[in-house]
Amino acid sequence: MIAPPLGSFALRATSGNARRGTLTLAHGTVETPCFMPVGTAATVKGLTPGDLTELGAQIILANTYHLWLRPGREVIVDAGGLHAFMGWDRPILTDSGGFQVFSLESRRILSDAGVRFRSHLDGSEHEFTPENVVAFQEALGVDIAMALDVCVKLPATSEEIDESVRRTSLWAQRCARARNRETTLLFGIVQGGLDHEARQRSAQELVALDLPGYAIGGLSVGETREEMYATARFTAGQLPPDKPRYLMGVGTVRDLVSAIDCGIDLFDCVYPTRCGRTGRAITRAGDLSIRNATFVRDYTPLDPTCHCFVCQNHTRAYLSHLFRADEMLGPRLLSYHNLAVLIQLMAEARTAIERGVWVSFSEGVTNREAPGAAPNTEA
Ligand SMILES: [Zn+2]
Repeated sequence: MIAPPLGSFALRATSGNARRGTLTLAHGTVETPCFMPVGTAATVKGLTPGDLTELGAQIILANTYHLWLRPGREVIVDAGGLHAFMGWDRPILTDSGGFQVFSLESRRILSDAGVRFRSHLDGSEHEFTPENVVAFQEALGVDIAMALDVCVKLPATSEEIDESVRRTSLWAQRCARARNRETTLLFGIVQGGLDHEARQRSAQELVALDLPGYAIGGLSVGETREEMYATARFTAGQLPPDKPRYLMGVGTVRDLVSAIDCGIDLFDCVYPTRCGRTGRAITRAGDLSIRNATFVRDYTPLDPTCHCFVCQNHTRAYLSHLFRADEMLGPRLLSYHNLAVLIQLMAEARTAIERGVWVSFSEGVTNREAPGAAPNTEA
C-alpha cells in the first residue's frame, strides 16, 4: 500500500454536515474531528507527554508568541526542534502569534509590513512579519504552521473588518511565498467578523493560494454563540471540501458538537486545562465546581460516563479535598480528566459520523448537557 502524501486530507465519511477525515502529517496521522490540547509554552500545563499519549491526544498546539519570547528560537533549534525539546513525538501545530499580539492592544503598532510589539515579560521590542513567523515555525519543525493574520475584536466597524481581511490576505500571500520546508504545512486563517460578504471574500482570497488547510479565525471574541455558529457554518461552506477546516478557540462539549455540525474538523482551546487548574470539572452532563460543598462527601466519579484514569480511580470527594487543600495533584488530575472528556467525545463523534448517525448522536449529547456552559476564552 502506498502511503498517502504529506498534507493530504482523506474525507472518509460525512453524516449531515459532519465530516470524518484523516490528515497525514510529518509526525503521524490525525483522525478528525479532533480536539488539540493547548501547550502554550511547550507544555500542556500540568501534564506530561506520557499523559497526553495515554489520553489519546493526536496533536497539540503551541504558541509562537510565547516561545518566541521564552525560551527563544535558538534554544529550541539547538535542542533539535520543538518535538525533541519538549519530548513529544506526535504532530504539533503552532499559531502565528497574531492572536496574542492583538490581545496586547496598547503595546503594538500595526502596518502592512507587520506588527511591532513589546514583550509582556520585560518590555523588550519585537516585530512579527509574515516572513519571520513562517521562518520561526519552520525552524521549530512543527507539522502545521499558521499564517500571520489580523484579528479584530467584535463588535467592529465594516472599515475595521475590511482592513483586517485585506491585510490578512496580503500577509497570507507573503507567508505562502516564504515557505521553505516541505514537512511544515501552512494553513491560512479566514477573517471577516460576522459579515458574510467579508468572510466570503477572505475565504476566496486564501483558497486562491491553494493552502493545505484553512482556519476560521476571529470568532470567540465577544459575539454571541448564535452569531458565532452562523458565521462558522457560512465560512465552512466557503472552504474546499477536500481540505481540513480548523475553528480556533472552541473547547466545551456543547461548542465542539455545534462546530462539528458546521462541518469543521479541528479545534483547540485552553478551556479544559484552564478549568482543570481552577477547579471546574467538565462532564457530559455539564460543568461542575469541584470546590462546591456538595462534593465534599460525594464518592462517585467526576463523570460516570468517562473512561479516564481519574474517573476509574478517584472520587469527587477526593478531588474536592485536593482543591480545598491546595494540593498540586488536584489541578493535574482535573486537567487530565477534562481533556479526557473532550478527546473521548471526539472519538465517539468520529464513530457516529462513520455510522451515519451524527444527527441523533449530537442531539443526544447536547440534550444531556445543562444549558449555559461558560463562554470560551483563548489564551
Ligand atoms: Zn474522567
